[in-house]
Amino acid sequence: MSADVVIIGSGPNGLAAGVVMARSGLSVEIHEAAAEAGGGLRSAPLFDSSVVHDVCSAVHPMAAASRFFREFDLAGRGVELLQPEIGFAHPLDGGRAGLAYRDLDRTCDRLGADGARWRDLMLPLVRRSEAMVDLLLSDQRRLPADPRALSLLPRLPTRILRHGTAWSRHLFSGPEAPALLAGAEAHAVTGLPSLPAAAVGLLLGHLAHSSGWPVARGGSARIADALIEDFTAHGGRVHTGSPVTDIRQVRSARAVLLDLAPRGVLDVAGPLLPAGYRGRLERYRYGPGAAKVDFLVSEPIPWAVPEIGRAGTVHLGGDQMEVFARETAVARGALPAEPFVLLSEPMAADPSRGAPGRRPVWAYAHVPNGDPGDPVAAVRSRIERFAPGFGDTVLASRGVPAAAMESYNPNYVGGDIGAGAIGIRQMLARPALRWDPYRTPLKGVYLCSAATPPGPGVHGMAGYHAARSALRTEFGIHAPPSLSPRRS
Ligand SMILES: Cc1cc2nc3c(=O)[nH]c(=O)nc-3n(C[C@H](O)[C@H](O)[C@H](O)COP(=O)(O)OP(=O)(O)OC[C@H]3O[C@@H](n4cnc5c(N)ncnc54)[C@H](O)[C@@H]3O)c2cc1C
Repeated sequence: MSADVVIIGSGPNGLAAGVVMARSGLSVEIHEAAAEAGGGLRSAPLFDSSVVHDVCSAVHPMAAASRFFREFDLAGRGVELLQPEIGFAHPLDGGRAGLAYRDLDRTCDRLGADGARWRDLMLPLVRRSEAMVDLLLSDQRRLPADPRALSLLPRLPTRILRHGTAWSRHLFSGPEAPALLAGAEAHAVTGLPSLPAAAVGLLLGHLAHSSGWPVARGGSARIADALIEDFTAHGGRVHTGSPVTDIRQVRSARAVLLDLAPRGVLDVAGPLLPAGYRGRLERYRYGPGAAKVDFLVSEPIPWAVPEIGRAGTVHLGGDQMEVFARETAVARGALPAEPFVLLSEPMAADPSRGAPGRRPVWAYAHVPNGDPGDPVAAVRSRIERFAPGFGDTVLASRGVPAAAMESYNPNYVGGDIGAGAIGIRQMLARPALRWDPYRTPLKGVYLCSAATPPGPGVHGMAGYHAARSALRTEFGIHAPPSLSPRRS
């Protein structure tokens, strides 16, 4: 008998959609091309069986905050999100550094004259953190039901306007605070400054002082394991090593959800799509690439500013103007001599990841889409600049050029790990301008990947919104199921 629902792809959004649909009493099957489920939530011992590396996502401010994961309750399922003392750090030349402590007061104390400005920027958002998260991770078609979202008006739009335009260069006096914010904005992987990147920067920036920037004890795959366990406990079935090449293979299901980038949607369903919608997917723009580097090192990174060793995430991009210049160059297709690098030392929070004298370091550089270059030397020298002697601690390394990322996961087109460029148009029309962005013109076929609102990151919200759309339209189910482990 065929399933009620088939989901193609088992990333966090595919799994979140599966959990919602299976908990609604439907029979659900997930087909995953890779040998292992989880998409961007996979971990592996890349060099040494005693050291766990996160292959894609490593740090989880969104999973700690999103409505889907709040209801799903990772802690209640035994998944520990471990908080480093410093959410993210940003070293600068001359032995200076911006440090976003979990504790807002401590952060402000370190920022000197800019401390009061950082507090004025962040505190109102921290106080309304849940409403802010629900607003920015909504389906971007309607205000969340929570009236507290309204209390963000006009605070949030004015902040986005000030920090997303040239104005942003004049809002702080020292280099640390603007560098901290620019590092958070760079997660949008787009030219800076920009309004969507400012929204991303304020979302991620304030989370450092609210629900945090944690890592999962044992690796990001523990999050996928919890999703899969709940899904299968509710009757769902996951088929790994099962690529779907033609949507007609699974059309007997009443609903098909595609956890795919638009190019993947064209690959499996292109000839069936009406010309207008197909054209929108063909014209969909992909963003710059990420070139991944994993290191096995013998000791903690010898940062010139030792406190940086207490940070889970480090942004290596120079001061605000340098970050803006590097990200804008990459968005225009030029490879800067020193690219922006994001780095995580997971053992800053999770000692279980390694062994004495053997530790993982996770990093990636922003490079032009499709860049074929091996990133190891550039990333190594970026780290060395702020941590002299780092090279002497490296026992092994592995670089994955942006051009090779899609052979690991076809959703990373040209190494774009966000499943599509982030710009004003593609935030709202993601992947095409429709009132319900999850529904396609094909009866019963939905998109649920990061190429739909609210975009990239491990938050499960695209899967959650897509599942709710399909439940309403195909099955007449309007109330979302409980996601709590206690009531299952
Ligand atoms: C290097 C890197 C670092 C990152 N760091 C972070 C981070 O620290 N924090 C964070 O929140 N986010 C991070 N991200 C982004 C995050 O991983 C993604 O935004 C998220 O995984 C997107 O989820 P998804 O479910 O939409 O798709 P994906 O996770 O991409 O999953 C899609 C799945 O579909 C499968 N698939 C594709 N085509 C087919 C087919 N035809 N048939 C069957 N299966 C198919 C793929 O194999 C894949 O498993 C990172 C990503 C990368 C690559």
